[in-house]
Amino acid sequence: MKLEINRFVRKSLLDLKPYRSAREEYVGEGRDMILLDANENPFPSSFNRYPDPMQTELKNRIAVWKEVNPNQLYLSNGSDEFISQIIMACCDPQNDHIITLPPTFGMYKVSAITCGVTVKEVPLDTNFELDVEAILETADSNSKIIFIPTPNNPTANSFDVNSIEMIIQEFPGLVVVDEAYIEFTDKASFTTLLNKYINLVVCQTFSKAQGMAGARLGMAFANPELIRFFNSLKAPYNLNSLTINLALERLESQEKVNEQVEIMLNERKRLEVAFSEISFIKTIFTSDANFILVRFDDCKIRYQQLLDQGIVVRNSSKNRACENTLRISVGTQKENNSLINALRNLDK
Ligand code: PMP
Repeated sequence: MKLEINRFVRKSLLDLKPYRSAREEYVGEGRDMILLDANENPFPSSFNRYPDPMQTELKNRIAVWKEVNPNQLYLSNGSDEFISQIIMACCDPQNDHIITLPPTFGMYKVSAITCGVTVKEVPLDTNFELDVEAILETADSNSKIIFIPTPNNPTANSFDVNSIEMIIQEFPGLVVVDEAYIEFTDKASFTTLLNKYINLVVCQTFSKAQGMAGARLGMAFANPELIRFFNSLKAPYNLNSLTINLALERLESQEKVNEQVEIMLNERKRLEVAFSEISFIKTIFTSDANFILVRFDDCKIRYQQLLDQGIVVRNSSKNRACENTLRISVGTQKENNSLINALRNLDK
């Protein structure tokens, strides 16, 4: 059968017969069965059995939450894992490349290079916006994936929605819209366009607003054919049962998550005002995320001074067009007070 997704994925993988795990051969029917099929330790605990390889219950619940079909959803060990999986699944190292848009999230490049895949970089313009013309000029039939994180990391701004949609319409390969920080914006998710564009892939994560960075859970949304293809390549039990159960619980606590997001957004405003009164802060870039990119007089000195006061921020100055910047996450009110006091003391 010729798949519509053929042009996006590695030809050599299309005929791969997926590995079938014991728990895929037998699907429970609600009866209590004696499970002697997977060489597990039979003595019960909350994790002696392999987890559901397809994470059916969690996917059904996430699908309702995100208003997608469960067959449009793939779950991974953090978005980091999915980024490397999609490159492996779609890019032939001999011929294909990915496109990234620096300054951007560093793992796209690391994952591509790890897979032996070339990275073509099309810088953002001077306002950290997408240069659609340059992107489309660079793209060719071997451009298999473009990664567009919005809000962007490290710059924290959201990109123009129409520009992204124009890229989706014109780009020959898959467009991965990485929405790791979507909960902090008032922008609609691109998941609403999944049924319109076969080459659209949207990533979200439980690591940021959902407060589960330690549990590692990423969500990827795409057309069902592509999802089926990713499923055929994945490790049999790629999500552990502890993470699955934690995520099921977290889905019941969305009011709390929303409250926390609201607090973080207010704290972000408070930090922005405080930063604007510090003489050695030169630019505060507009943030649509739970962090702020800040340009200092000398970021190396300021980074060390903050470290000396027990505050760790991220030196983002090695990123393109980010000279002398630090990327500062929004903490709790108490943590932010400490940061503000530390900066004020340095400014005396
Ligand atoms: N995408 C972006 C834009 C990110 O900033 C990050 C984490 N810093 C990730 C993906 C990876 O997220 P996860 O913790 O789900 O692997």
